[in-house]
Amino acid sequence: MSEAASKRVTMRRGTNRAEYDPATMREVLDAGMVAHVGVATDDGPIVLPMAYGRTDNTLFLHGAVANAMLRAGTDVDVCVTVTLVDGLVIARTPFHNSMNYRSVVVRGTATRIDDPDAKIAALKIINDHVVEIWDTARPPSESDLKKTLVLEVPLDEMSAKIRAGDPVDEDQDLDGPHWAGVLPLTRSWGDIVPAADLVDGVDTPVNVAGLAGQRRT
Ligand SMILES: Cc1cc2nc3c(=O)[nH]c(=O)nc-3n(C[C@H](O)[C@H](O)[C@H](O)COP(=O)(O)OP(=O)(O)OC[C@H]3O[C@@H](n4cnc5c(N)ncnc54)[C@H](O)[C@@H]3O)c2cc1C
Repeated sequence: MSEAASKRVTMRRGTNRAEYDPATMREVLDAGMVAHVGVATDDGPIVLPMAYGRTDNTLFLHGAVANAMLRAGTDVDVCVTVTLVDGLVIARTPFHNSMNYRSVVVRGTATRIDDPDAKIAALKIINDHVVEIWDTARPPSESDLKKTLVLEVPLDEMSAKIRAGDPVDEDQDLDGPHWAGVLPLTRSWGDIVPAADLVDGVDTPVNVAGLAGQRRT
């Protein structure tokens, strides 16, 4: 069994749900779509939802050069959290109600990527995190790149917490009259809606078309 990389990413409670195996933690990052990025700023802590992407060892974030949080998060410790809710866990008593979930917390120093090639590579990874659309789109211009700030966070210090399965009730309640079980929450893509101003004859990228109606795990 894998060990936590540091004390500050070691689960203190619910340790039976802790996962430090890199492959498992990466799987949760791959299943997620939105990262909540937390930074301590001069006017107080802030946590904002953002897109992200990853390689085996690095997580990438991007935003406008003017983005206050990303600027405040450069060269300082940040905390990035990705959460997926998989269902409501309904116990016989509200005290034991819970949720099935997968979450990852990444802690580390965010660094700005200035090298043009590395920046483009990171932007492609962020763009392609959910669906590979970079190669079928117009490449970014010099001006687009100038306006975009890209940060990288090492995936050295992270933890996953995963809850699955039934409620855990007290023995005294098991024979009682109260219901217990799980209400799963599933995600799926809908039908494609082409842009209202799309010119005739432009086909939907295969990777986008392929997702329509599909379940996302
Ligand atoms: C699913 C999702 C994905 C996103 N992905 C990205 C991304 O990849 N890159 C990116 O730069 N931005 C992304 N955003 C937008 C991001 O959350 C911020 O809104 C954006 O970065 C704001 O920058 P700012 O400099 O204007 O905010 P700031 O000026 O730093 O924020 C000022 C205040 O605005 C309010 N505020 C800002 N953002 C939000 C918000 N999302 N919801 C509610 N209140 C808010 C807060 O009160 C905050 O204190 C995403 C948002 C969502 C919901």
